[in-house]
Amino acid sequence: MTDFDQALRGRLLDTVTARIIAAAEELTDLDAAIGDGDHGINMKRGMEAVIDAREAIVALAPGEALQLAGKQLVMKVGGASGPLFGTLALQLGKSWPSEPTPAGLHAALAAALAAVMARGRSEPGQKTLLDVLAPVTDAVGRDAPLADIAAIAAQAADATIPLRAQRGRASFLGERSVGHMDPGARSLALIVTAIVDVLEGRA
Ligand code: ADP
Ligand code: MG
Repeated sequence: MTDFDQALRGRLLDTVTARIIAAAEELTDLDAAIGDGDHGINMKRGMEAVIDAREAIVALAPGEALQLAGKQLVMKVGGASGPLFGTLALQLGKSWPSEPTPAGLHAALAAALAAVMARGRSEPGQKTLLDVLAPVTDAVGRDAPLADIAAIAAQAADATIPLRAQRGRASFLGERSVGHMDPGARSLALIVTAIVDVLEGRA
């Protein structure tokens, strides 16, 4: 099982933030179709806040590092996504297992999923980032191979396309939200893929 040492924590932070910043325009375009066109800007601002705290974050143990990253997102990002992605990182950090076993990581992800659901008053199936977080949590619980987890995240984001949004700004569009990928789901899929690429030594 991976030891989340300081060098690995640095690579994870650098790769996740770089991938989201590189995708800012795509994320904003997705949000322009079914929201207010700021998701890429919000996520970029959040990643820049995490980069600002890089030294402090990377020096901390994984659980504390995730909590500090989550606090940066909650404090520095406007919009729905800051508090939601922030809550995800915060709770994942608070529930981080003493040993990163599949069961321990699954329990931490399940706690993070529950926390985001409570924060958003939402559940999977409503065309949000939860539609990626829930299947990824299940996959970790099954101890699925890393490559499968990345594929599951990407497919789960694609699977939001035919859904009708029931939470957030996209829900105001009703049926017109059908046929577009949820921007928050896409962001989370990019984050999961970035993490898998680092853990598999590709980034
Ligand atoms: P805003 O909606 O305030 O403009 P963003 O555009 O940054 O914020 O984020 C929109 C994303 O946030 C959506 O694509 C969706 O994934 C997620 N989202 C919005 N509201 C909720 C909610 N209540 N529960 C879960 N996720 C939500
Ligand atoms: Mg928006």
